[in-house]
Amino acid sequence: MDSMDRPDLSVIRDDVRAMDAYFAPDATGLIKLDAMENPYALPQGLAQTLGRHLAQVALNRYPPTDPEPLKHKLAARMGVPACAKLMLGNGSDELIHLLIQACAKPGAVVLAPGPSFVMYETSARLNGCRFMQVALRDDFSLDTSAMLEAIQTTRPALTFIAYPNNPTGNLFDRAAIAEVIHAAAPGLVVLDEAYLPFALETWMPQQSTAYNLLILRTLSKLGLAGIRLGYLAAHPAYIEQLEKVRPPYNVNALTLATTEFVLDFVDLFDVQAASIRAQRAVLLAALRAMPQVTAYDSAANFILFRVDNPDRTYAGLKQRGLLIKNLTRTHPLLRGCLRVTVGTPEENAAFLSALTDTLATS
Ligand code: PMP
Repeated sequence: MDSMDRPDLSVIRDDVRAMDAYFAPDATGLIKLDAMENPYALPQGLAQTLGRHLAQVALNRYPPTDPEPLKHKLAARMGVPACAKLMLGNGSDELIHLLIQACAKPGAVVLAPGPSFVMYETSARLNGCRFMQVALRDDFSLDTSAMLEAIQTTRPALTFIAYPNNPTGNLFDRAAIAEVIHAAAPGLVVLDEAYLPFALETWMPQQSTAYNLLILRTLSKLGLAGIRLGYLAAHPAYIEQLEKVRPPYNVNALTLATTEFVLDFVDLFDVQAASIRAQRAVLLAALRAMPQVTAYDSAANFILFRVDNPDRTYAGLKQRGLLIKNLTRTHPLLRGCLRVTVGTPEENAAFLSALTDTLATS
């Protein structure tokens, strides 16, 4: 046996050893515009009431394994049609993983356009599935004929479509998505609506007519990233199967209680989302006024933009106290691209001033 300070890692899967762990840089002391969070905290009074509410939670007990009353409340507040049932997850990340795990027959294919949210690929690979990516067109629109061809040839068990897409920020054409849903059956098509509060466009009602359409959502972007609550709406027959792969207590008692509480204050989050949407327009206009920047339209709470020297721009911003996301090496279509989350008016102004400064000196 190897000594304790040099453990033998050969028991770990080769593909896992070859992977990098998900990396989120330390934002201490920086204005954090890298992770599509809502910049607004809960109002002080509400946070205190929530604190008293959470003090009642029985931390010595396991949470309910299937919190039906909460799911009904969530369904009612979030416009889930009566024909669908919900499954809750520890963030939508976990639901992506569980969906793929449930479908991961030997040789199963997971399909997604690319670039898109990285967890579709990561979860597919970790579950032993074949991941197929169909490149978006240069303008980041869905390449419908390439998607349909990939569906015909590989018959994916699951197709993921982020709506709006991360990291490009755009909404794909609805008619193109409808074709994909139709062609993919009996394969499942997951419409990932993580950025719904900023897009105000949903596929939820279409669930009543397309049984293979599943809607994935999260409370993270709404302003509750810290509690980790995702939900999946699907035909009850799928939920019944997916429940078998869900760890029994995957959503903790404090998250359940917080969700229950905040669902009475959805209006507050809607007001915050409206202000973020207004700020997005201000930020986009300011970026477009910079001759060295190409900024793309966004239906989400972030903006993708391209510059000549992304590494130097990213570093220059960081030096000036701003943390955003550098995407230049993540996909060929994203060469030169950086992504900034829409923050408060003050944060956005600080970002724009730091960017102006950085571009002037690089
Ligand atoms: N879907 C998309 C498209 C995302 O961009 C993200 C997070 N960035 C998620 C899902 C995961 O969200 P969470 O796990 O916080 O619910």
